[in-house]
Amino acid sequence: MTNKKYLNRWNASLQGNYGKPAITLVKGKGIVVTDADGKIYMDFLGGIATNILGHAHPAIVKAVTKQVSTLSHVSNFYAHPNAIELAEKLTAMTGDKKAKVFFCQSGAEANEAALKLSRRTGRVRIVAAQGAFHGRTMGALSLTGQPSKREPFLPLIKGVKHVPFGDIDAMRKAVSKKTAMVIIEPIMGEAGVIVPPADYLQQLRQLCDKNGSLLVIDAVQTGMGRTGDWFGYEYSGITPDVITLAKGLGGGLPLGAMIALGKAAELFQPGDHGSTFGGNPVTTAAAIATIDFIESQQILNKVKKQAVNLIQELALIPGVKEVRGAGLLLGIELVSLKASDVSDSMREAGVLVNAANATTIRIAPALIVSDTQIAKFISIFKKVISDAE
Ligand SMILES: *Cc1c(COP(=O)(O)O)cnc(C)c1O
Repeated sequence: MTNKKYLNRWNASLQGNYGKPAITLVKGKGIVVTDADGKIYMDFLGGIATNILGHAHPAIVKAVTKQVSTLSHVSNFYAHPNAIELAEKLTAMTGDKKAKVFFCQSGAEANEAALKLSRRTGRVRIVAAQGAFHGRTMGALSLTGQPSKREPFLPLIKGVKHVPFGDIDAMRKAVSKKTAMVIIEPIMGEAGVIVPPADYLQQLRQLCDKNGSLLVIDAVQTGMGRTGDWFGYEYSGITPDVITLAKGLGGGLPLGAMIALGKAAELFQPGDHGSTFGGNPVTTAAAIATIDFIESQQILNKVKKQAVNLIQELALIPGVKEVRGAGLLLGIELVSLKASDVSDSMREAGVLVNAANATTIRIAPALIVSDTQIAKFISIFKKVISDAE
């Protein structure tokens, strides 16, 4: 089977909701993946910030194999040690002793859960950011601030207002004592790795406190060590009311979480929400293995150091306008080249990245990426840009 044959079969049997895939990936190890034609690539997108320890990581393989051959699924009628252990780890990371977790499978579901939780405040209004991405299901899409994704599916749920990202005055005008929740990404990922002003989250926290509104941090893309912190907002010093996670949480397996802190942790009552697969023994085993590995190998410190180097080196490349982001979630804004062309040329040169918007290349490699692999990435990127200019 070749890439071409697989693509024909894909087009004939899968719906047209995605763009046409360029290649078919058949195996991976660390940050290296192989396509159906046998060509190898450095995966600098990591399944969009999802394969946090890369492909086929031994710690994850071991944990999942052991769990799937012991007990694979229990439903939510019964407790399971892995769900408990993972919830304890996640709540400990928040630093809030009252924090409690709800498990699901995806980012959209984590945000759906936050949306339903906010209804339990007795309020219905929500404020979110223009350009934000919170998922594709009807509730999550109502939070998503991208008109092109929303418009074909109107009407969405009422009462959601979108204001410019990073603009605290716009938030002040929109948030009132009727606001149930404000939802925000610490760094907007899908929009093109957009970083807000340094004091934005602090001010948003004060605004939500003043109005009694929940502050929901969507850390689906920025969480799990991606930015060099566990949840992407810690640099700000705030404590949110809700944190949503998915992407990297399961180390490549489908797992999402909605963590509620403080009083928000008591809002859901029995019967309020649920998910058959949520907190499944196998996916939670993968998440525990992922967290243990990141902690024992002090990966977060490494990520922070690598980010400093990457940002410095990439910003020096002629044709690069600026480099935004934190940790190993970076947006490389190009002066004049089309990001989709650069992404195609990078793939031909053996590196997977993506065009987050028309002018921005996004990279989100696995956190285990080595300094040597980063150096190789920089030199290939430099060459691709100079060949195209
Ligand atoms: C990817 C993403 C989502 C949606 O996650 P899915 O698992 O695709 O439903 C939500 N929020 C943010 C910030 C994301 O990056």
